[in-house]
Order: sequence, then C-alpha cells, then structure tokens
Amino acid sequence: MPEAHIPYLDLRYMQRDLGDSMHEALDAVWQDSWFVMGDRLEAFEQAYAHYTGTAYCRGVANGLDALSLGLRAMGVGPGDEVLVPSNTYIASWLAVTHCGARPVPVEPDPDTGNLDATRLSDSLTAHTKAVMAVHLHGAPCDMEAITSFARQHHLGVIEDNAQAQGAAWDGRKTGSWSDIAGHSFYPGKNLGALGDAGAITTDNPALAEKISRLRNYGSNRKYIHEEIGWNSRLDTLQAAFLSAKLPMLDRWNAQRQLIAEAYTGYLKELPMLSMLKIPADASPVWHIFPVRCERRDQLQQYLLRHGIQTLIHYPIPPHLQGAYKHLGWRRGDFPIAEKWAGQELSLPIYPGLMPGQVEQIAQSVIRFFDQAY
Ligand SMILES: *Cc1c(COP(=O)(O)O)cnc(C)c1O
Repeated sequence: MPEAHIPYLDLRYMQRDLGDSMHEALDAVWQDSWFVMGDRLEAFEQAYAHYTGTAYCRGVANGLDALSLGLRAMGVGPGDEVLVPSNTYIASWLAVTHCGARPVPVEPDPDTGNLDATRLSDSLTAHTKAVMAVHLHGAPCDMEAITSFARQHHLGVIEDNAQAQGAAWDGRKTGSWSDIAGHSFYPGKNLGALGDAGAITTDNPALAEKISRLRNYGSNRKYIHEEIGWNSRLDTLQAAFLSAKLPMLDRWNAQRQLIAEAYTGYLKELPMLSMLKIPADASPVWHIFPVRCERRDQLQQYLLRHGIQTLIHYPIPPHLQGAYKHLGWRRGDFPIAEKWAGQELSLPIYPGLMPGQVEQIAQSVIRFFDQAY
C-alpha cells in the first residue's frame, strides 16, 4: 500500500483553527472601505509591538523592505559595510545592497547555523557600520554576544526576524534586542498574511518616525514630503488578517516545538545525521527543521519516493549567486556556509502535522540510513 503523501507545508490546518475570524476581518475592512493605513493597521502595529516587547511597530510591504528601510533609517548607505551571515536567505544581503552598502559575510557556528559572534572581529573594518543578526530556522542568535560586540565597536544592530516570530534569547523576544528589527509575514512564515507583508519593531521613537515617513513617500502629513521615500505599506486588509492570527501564534509555535522534540527523539541515534544544536539560552520557534548529512540529495529522493516532500534551505549561498558576482567571492571562501548548502535538508514541520506523520517521516529517514550504510 503506498504511503500517504506528506507535503512540506500545508497551511490549511492553521486555517481551520481560525474559524470565521478571517472572514470577519475581511467583512470589517470591506464595511469600513478603508484599505491603506488607518486604525486597523495601527491596531495590528500596537498588538505586534506588545507581542515582541518593543515600544513601536510599523507595518511595511514585506520582510525585505522592513530590513532595507530599517538599515536606511539607521543611516546605513554607500561606503558602509554591514556584517551579515554567510548562510542566510539572500534577502538579508539584498537589504544591505539596496541601501548602497556592502554585505560582508561572516561564517556561522557550524552547530547552530547562526552568526558566530567570535568571528565578527575578523571582518571588522573602518567602514563597518552595523551587524545583521538573522535568527535562521526560527532559532535565536546569541544576542548578548552580538550586541556587546556591537556596543564595543559603536556599530548598529539589526535583527532579521523573518523566521523567528515568538522566539526568545534568555527570555527576551527576538526582534527586541536590536536598534531595529525586520519581520516578514510572507504566508509560509510562522505568522503569515494572505500575501506579502512585513514590519519593523524598535524601541527608538526617532527610528519609528523615520520608518513611518520612508514607507509613505517620505511623508507623515498628506502632501508634505520631508525626504525621498517609498511606497511600502502593510495593507490594512493584511493587517486585519494578521490581527486575527496573532493570538494563535504561541499555540502554533508550541505545536512546532512538539514536532521538533519528536524528530529529535527519533533521529538522535543516527551518527550520520546532524540536527540543529540549540543553546541553553535559546527558545526557538522552529520555522524550519534542518537536518544535515553527506548523502543529502539521495535522502531527499528517497523520502520523495516514500511520499514525503522536503526542501533545501538554501542550495546556493548568497556569495555564490550570480547577483553577487561583482563582489568577487569564490567557492571555498565561506566553507561553513557552503557545507550547509551541500548538506542541509528541511523536514516538514507545521501546526497540524500529526504525530503519526512525524513518526512516518522519521522512520523513513532511519530506513534510508539502514539501507545506505
Ligand atoms: C522570508 C525571509 C526574508 C524576506 O521576507 P519577504 O517578506 O519574503 O520579503 C528575509 N530574511 C529571511 C531570513 C527570510 O526567511
């Protein structure tokens, strides 16, 4: 009997948890007939600032804009360098490039996959302006080490919190540790809109004010334009959807945690497979459940033949992408990131994935290694 197909991600389970609330949000916005900015956007911004433990949130069009407007608000521009992880989604780097600054890659800790704070000083130059901490896979970076390094060298800190809504380092939420943090509500993120959406959070009123202008044609008062701005706003309708989903986030993250614990239990005896190491101070939210092994592509094919879809985050690191050819990096320049790219495989993890399915996936992984070695 063929095993049932398990997709990498199925958002419909989470949608079932939401009952009528999404239709009610749509009806409310439809009745208001107010679609850009306004009270419903502000209500979400307040709720999300409160959730992250920050003073201010400003909605923007997507996660990439949150990061690039955030850097710009911090004063990062041409001639500046920003320390970024060598293994991240390319958006982290693009945000730096869009400001006219230069991304300077720093290798991750090979066990956590996150920025290794002890390596930051090797890449420091007179042009370094800021550090970008990316909480990859939903696992928080060591924010104590990163912020203390930044303070010592008078650098700004920005968090890329696209994958980590609800995570915490030492009990304090990610997105609240830095000068300004960028969040993405792309549909597949732990908190997702029904389309593109993003936000910044900050405790700094001047930065919040600056983002309010930058996202809205450089204007805080209609037809008064203080600076060269963008049109990068979080749609009121998406904000209303996000307000309806936010109260569910902790429950959904707890389900991800249970799945991660189950995988860890099933797979911990496999010597050829590495799982993410979670530091004692970290409370992750498991946006991705990465495993690493040498015969990654064969494992992916094997799982697919057994009805299990997986993804690779990410097959080519940013420094080897065509987009960054002009920076002159070559294969071998960032071996830890390259090794991750060659070995990483992401197993399905999402609210609604049943314990029996998690077991089925884990047993298939175990069978692959039984047969292969
Ligand atoms: C998704 C993601 C982004 C970009 O967010 P968008 O809303 O898709 O623009 C940035 N950084 C990381 C690490 C991401 O996973």
